[in-house]
Amino acid sequence: MSLVVVGSVAYDGVETPHGKVDRMLGGAATYISLAASYFTPVKIVAVVGGDFAEQDMELLTSRKIDVDGIERVKDGKTFFWAGVYSADMNDRTTLQTDLNVFADFNPKLPQSYRSAPYLLLGNIQPALQSGVRQQMNGVRFTGGDTMNYWIKDYRGELLETIKDWDFLLINDSEARQLSGDGNLRRAAAKILQMGPKILVIKRGEYGAVLFTKEFHFMAPGYLLEDVFDPTGAGDCFAGGFMGYLAGKGFTPDTGKMDWTELRKAVIYGSVMGSFCCEKFGVDRFRTLGRGEVEARFQEFKTCTEF
Ligand code: AMP
Repeated sequence: MSLVVVGSVAYDGVETPHGKVDRMLGGAATYISLAASYFTPVKIVAVVGGDFAEQDMELLTSRKIDVDGIERVKDGKTFFWAGVYSADMNDRTTLQTDLNVFADFNPKLPQSYRSAPYLLLGNIQPALQSGVRQQMNGVRFTGGDTMNYWIKDYRGELLETIKDWDFLLINDSEARQLSGDGNLRRAAAKILQMGPKILVIKRGEYGAVLFTKEFHFMAPGYLLEDVFDPTGAGDCFAGGFMGYLAGKGFTPDTGKMDWTELRKAVIYGSVMGSFCCEKFGVDRFRTLGRGEVEARFQEFKTCTEF
């Protein structure tokens, strides 16, 4: 079933120990949409400038992503972000953030998007995330991402926004910051009191933990031989997780959540995050096939079964 994805479509400059690319397609919504498109039809909402290349749009449409919700500001420039990774690639320093047309991003959903049952809100200002949700009629499952900047400086607005979400996806340091508790298990319990029924805490190369009030589930990270570029891995996790659930028609409101599907969704999230790291930027998605996704899912099963 259709999934609406909202967030940044960008050009990125990235340097890792494996090389440097000055400008390539990136953005959280780009990564989320590409990853989710392996599981369910995706409708993307974003803004780009007149400099946005037709071949980049074609990558999205080649994955059958609906791009009617991408607004093009002809006399503006696309959001640009640049970062450099540490030698072990566990740390990243942002070198440049040029918001450009993203500074005035006020997402407006096309009519054809509004009745979609699934909504994934990428990391944008919480009030804009709320505004998007209000434009949907009858959304069945809403989740999103946020970051330290919104947790620190827009706390009230963020709490108001996430209280209506079905799931929240953040990394471990953000979970500690949001809850004010250094212990991850207690931090998760506190965040689940803030509204979301499902919380996924990403732990970089160490995997992810899913929490509900009833249970938690731990998934390791896939052990890649070579990580070329971790940019977008968290977004691809989100896309794989939500895309899988949307494809299955998952709903948290039938009294009892399907825990097996939630566990599988975490693994598909890890699978898509791992593929993302295998090449620079979005390049892995130019060739990745559904069969490879399934094979890695099975490999995860074999590696963790006991
Ligand atoms: P991740 O590695 O999962 O954190 O995602 C990296 C992607 O997020 C890059 O492609 C960037 O273009 C995008 N990005 C970086 N900073 C921001 C920001 N402030 N708002 C929205 N997207 C961003």
